[in-house]
Amino acid sequence: MNNFLQYNPTKLYFGEGQITQLPNEIGQGAKVLVIYGGGSIKKNGVYEDVLQQLEKLEGHVYELSGVEPNPRLTTVRRGVDICKKEGIDFLLAVGGGSVIDCTKAIAAGAVSDADAWELITQEAPIEKALPIGTVLTLAATGSEMNAVSVITNWETKDKLGWGSPHVYPTFSILDPTYTFSVPENQTVYGIVDSMSHALEHYFHRTENTPMIDGFIESLLRTAIQTGPKLIADQKSYEHRETMMYLSTTAFNGTLMNGTDGGDWATHRIEHAVSAIYDIPHGGGLAILFPNWLEHVLEDDPSRVKQLATNVFGIDSAGKTDVEVAREGAKALRHFWNSLGAPSTLKDYDITDEAFDDIVEKTFIKPGVGTYKEMNREAVLDILQRSL
Ligand code: NAP
Ligand code: FE
Repeated sequence: MNNFLQYNPTKLYFGEGQITQLPNEIGQGAKVLVIYGGGSIKKNGVYEDVLQQLEKLEGHVYELSGVEPNPRLTTVRRGVDICKKEGIDFLLAVGGGSVIDCTKAIAAGAVSDADAWELITQEAPIEKALPIGTVLTLAATGSEMNAVSVITNWETKDKLGWGSPHVYPTFSILDPTYTFSVPENQTVYGIVDSMSHALEHYFHRTENTPMIDGFIESLLRTAIQTGPKLIADQKSYEHRETMMYLSTTAFNGTLMNGTDGGDWATHRIEHAVSAIYDIPHGGGLAILFPNWLEHVLEDDPSRVKQLATNVFGIDSAGKTDVEVAREGAKALRHFWNSLGAPSTLKDYDITDEAFDDIVEKTFIKPGVGTYKEMNREAVLDILQRSL
């Protein structure tokens, strides 16, 4: 194992009814900006629950609505303007990863003279941020307990992941009943995204990590057992709570303890695809990840083979390592497809027309991949396998 620091300051309130903790976490009389998306929280009752709790603070409540899935820089700038104009003290994100990611960028922009894009591209330093709380409504990204955010600049068609320890949420409220209304396709994308986070952590090259490897394998097996049951019974508290805890744990730092952090090339390629085509993040990952596995196993099948046997239960007797690894990649694709996830770029009407552009955008920041370092040809190969 490598030396490591385990640090995560986000307080989690997990379970039904935890919304009543909200007033204890935000100061009395605070000016709170509530940030949300396209209105699902007004249909499922979450908005009323939040406002009812905020009333107890006797402060001022402001609102920013309309955060897009794949949140845009223009919306971040709108939020920054409100914060500066009204002197906002606290940001409350109510939604999924997009709302939370947008809130993180607003939090950094609100206390800086630099433009939000300069902070996201790290041209300007992030030295502080407004405090953030979240009420999560979709189990997928882990953004509720990490310091990462992904923002799209639609003018330049760039989708950039960034992070700062200043944007960890101070608390997150995770009530599985708030995810009952998540549509089936988004539920599937959430399962794919959280499994992808776990898989990306798994592809590290650090020696002697049996505990973390076993933890990741167990998390993946749990997703494989729970995913189909959840899709069959989407109002099941039991299955929603399992997926909610699983998705948070898959990307809150725990799975990096003692390793080199894993290989995030698939997320980089997916961000480049959705920067141009604005497709759902989980849908893009479902297409790309099995092809990334098939690409890497040709050089070194060992880790994909371990995934195949320990997670998918593939029998290796009488087979070469490459054969077992290939069966593992197929099993992953088959599992996601069985839930209803897409399997080729054609499912989103994407052809090879913009492949050169996607490759360039994948390298918007240098260094793609660590388990296998990618060059432009390797990224192109994965895209071609995904057609
Ligand atoms: P999302 O984009 O936040 O939400 C997708 C859709 O689900 C929206 O239309 C949203 O509606 C709807 N929705 C959310 N909760 C709902 C509920 N309870 N009932 C009904 N509909 C609901 O999805 P996401 O997968 O959580 O976030 C995706 C974004 O996060 C992408 O931009 C991705 O790149 C990024 N990401 C971030 C991280 C990270 O660590 N920060 C990691 C991976 C991915 P509303 O608009 O009405 O809310
Ligand atoms: Fe993700």
